[in-house]
Amino acid sequence: MALTFDADMTADQGPRAASGERFDNPDLIALLRRSKVPATVFMTGRWAEEYPAQAKAIGADPLFEVANHSYSHHAFSSPCYGLPVVEKAAMTADVRRAFTAFRKAGVRNVVPYFRFPGGCYDDAALRALAPANVTAVQWDVVSGDAFATDADAVARQVLDGVRPGSLVVMHCTRSAAPATEAAVRRIVPELRARGYRFVKVSELMGNGGGR
Ligand SMILES: [Zn+2]
Repeated sequence: MALTFDADMTADQGPRAASGERFDNPDLIALLRRSKVPATVFMTGRWAEEYPAQAKAIGADPLFEVANHSYSHHAFSSPCYGLPVVEKAAMTADVRRAFTAFRKAGVRNVVPYFRFPGGCYDDAALRALAPANVTAVQWDVVSGDAFATDADAVARQVLDGVRPGSLVVMHCTRSAAPATEAAVRRIVPELRARGYRFVKVSELMGNGGGR
C-alpha cells in the first residue's frame, strides 16, 4: 500500500506564510525517515518555492518521490471547496509551472504523476491536461486529516479503510493538517503488524517511475 502526502499551498497564500503560518511539516518527514516509510509527496509548485531546501531534501531522499499537485492549487473543475478556478487553457501551463518550480529548487526524483487540487476533476480537465504528459492519481482511502485535530480519528479511518493495494491520501502541511504526524505514528506500526508493506506510487503502479 502507498501513503501519499499532499504538500498544499495555494498561489495566494504567500502573505500568510510571510506572517508565520507554516505550510510545511518537517516533523512528519522526519518521522517517515526514522520509520523508513517510503512515500510519495504530491507537491504544489508554490510549496516548492516557499520551502526550496525541504523540497530539495525530500527529492534527494530515495525513500521519497515527488509528484505534481499543480503550481497554484487552484481548482481544475468547479465547484471545488471554494478554490479559485484554473481556466482550461491554463491547466497544462499550471502543471508545467510546478515542474519548473521543482527544477528551480533542485528537486530530484520527480515522477510524472499528477493529483488534482481537492481531487476535483472532470472529463474536460483530463482532456485539457493531455499535453502535460502526466498520469492523474487519486486514492481509495481518504484519511480525513484535512483540518482534523483528532489524530486517533484519522488513524482509525485509515486503519478501517485500507486493503492490499490501497492508496491513502494525507497531507504534508501543518496549516491544514495539524494531526497528520501523530496519526502516522499510530498507523505505521499497526499496518506493519498486519503484514502491510509501504511502497511509493510508482511501485504501486508497477513501473518504477523516475523522471
Ligand atoms: Zn491539495
